[in-house]
Amino acid sequence: MPKRPITIDAKSIPKKRIHQDALRVVSRLRRQGHEAYLVGGCVRDLLLGRRPKDFDIATAAHPRQIRRIFRNARIIGRRFKLAHIFYGDHILETATFRSAPQSDDDEDDLLITDDNDFGTAQSDALRRDFTINGLFLDPIDMEIHDWVGGLDDVDEGVLRTIGDPYVRMAEDPVRILRAVKFATRLGFRIEDDTWEAMLAHAPELERAAPPRILEEIMRLSASGTALGSFRMMRACGALAVLLPELDAFVGERDVSDKDVRDRADRYWRLLGALDADVQAGNEPSRAVCLAVLWLRLIEHHAGLVDNMLHQEPDVDLFDVVTEHLEPLVQDSRLPRRTFIIARRIIAEQFRFDDVPGDDARAKLFTLTEHFPDALHLFKLRCRAWGQGWQRYEAWEQTYQEMEKASDEEVQGLRKKGRRRKRRRPRKRRRSKT
Ligand code: ATP
Ligand code: MG
Repeated sequence: MPKRPITIDAKSIPKKRIHQDALRVVSRLRRQGHEAYLVGGCVRDLLLGRRPKDFDIATAAHPRQIRRIFRNARIIGRRFKLAHIFYGDHILETATFRSAPQSDDDEDDLLITDDNDFGTAQSDALRRDFTINGLFLDPIDMEIHDWVGGLDDVDEGVLRTIGDPYVRMAEDPVRILRAVKFATRLGFRIEDDTWEAMLAHAPELERAAPPRILEEIMRLSASGTALGSFRMMRACGALAVLLPELDAFVGERDVSDKDVRDRADRYWRLLGALDADVQAGNEPSRAVCLAVLWLRLIEHHAGLVDNMLHQEPDVDLFDVVTEHLEPLVQDSRLPRRTFIIARRIIAEQFRFDDVPGDDARAKLFTLTEHFPDALHLFKLRCRAWGQGWQRYEAWEQTYQEMEKASDEEVQGLRKKGRRRKRRRPRKRRRSKT
């Protein structure tokens, strides 16, 4: 074990890329005599020329000492205390160096249950997940300290666990999903042993807390690299454990059954459409992501064969969606509201089969709370199948117009809509919520 880290000059990182508040926290801790660094994702991203999402700080100061130095600090967490330092609504997470976690007495069970001991910069680096996430940046002297070989891996574009991958994946199987996330987001190659360990430990994802898994999955779906992520999850066996129904739906990579291959192609195309949309700068809601992930499977079960027309299905779409998605509410603490919106926007896709024209009900539809999500989903379908753009634009235009409509105009449409409804009862079943 090295006594000193490899240290390199980091002056090539423009200082203006480091948030002022992060600099303030580190220099204040330093002036009070405590070792302190920027750590984790921000160092990795700065080295790669990417904009860090946030700036995390690790320090030798204990939570109580941090609290004494910063009046704007709040200590959070029960199991492992860390400080949130507030500058307006900007929060800097400042954690005390930890030591390597102790696992339970049972030697075969490596799952981390206690993560509570304070340690040194070195021990704190070693308990992190991947080498590229284990770098420490001293933003005062502009130096990077590397205890884990992360600098080489950043240079070479390699994702590798710190320490024995089999041990690290066993300790926390959610690291498998984190590996998928970083490898796809950064376009890094997963080092062979790390990959083998992912395959070996994927079945243990079953033991991980379902809400944490759902959170990772939702983030992957909105990441702009959902397609790569889900394919990689399938390849390492994580998808089969976490979402067996979707895994079976897309089948294996080289499946010979042409029907399965076709439906898998279509499934991936929709994810690709979501990625393209995210990369164009749009942010899908959780409900839209959820709908995208399950749409093809639900259409399949509902016998909706045409990709672009949602016509009246033989079965009730509402029930099909409920059957497949409601378990997530119970098991994974998916917010019921997200489920309800996802169900609704799937069930309402048939409304986009026609252009809105001058129809009062179509215009009123654009005023409903979930219309933007429903339209977003429709846009992704258009993108995936390369059709329907004119319809999409017509709806988008009606939506824009209706946003500006006066109260009187809306009242008038409501009356008209009601009158028409009485004369010609709708064939299609109304949404329940
Ligand atoms: P992102 O850009 O997605 O925020 P990140 O690397 O900052 O990526 P976070 O989830 O914010 O990831 O975690 C911050 C740091 O905490 C990581 O860089 C890593 O060093 C450490 N870490 C997070 N989760 C784990 C884990 N499950 N096991 C070990 N270390 C972890
Ligand atoms: Mg982060």
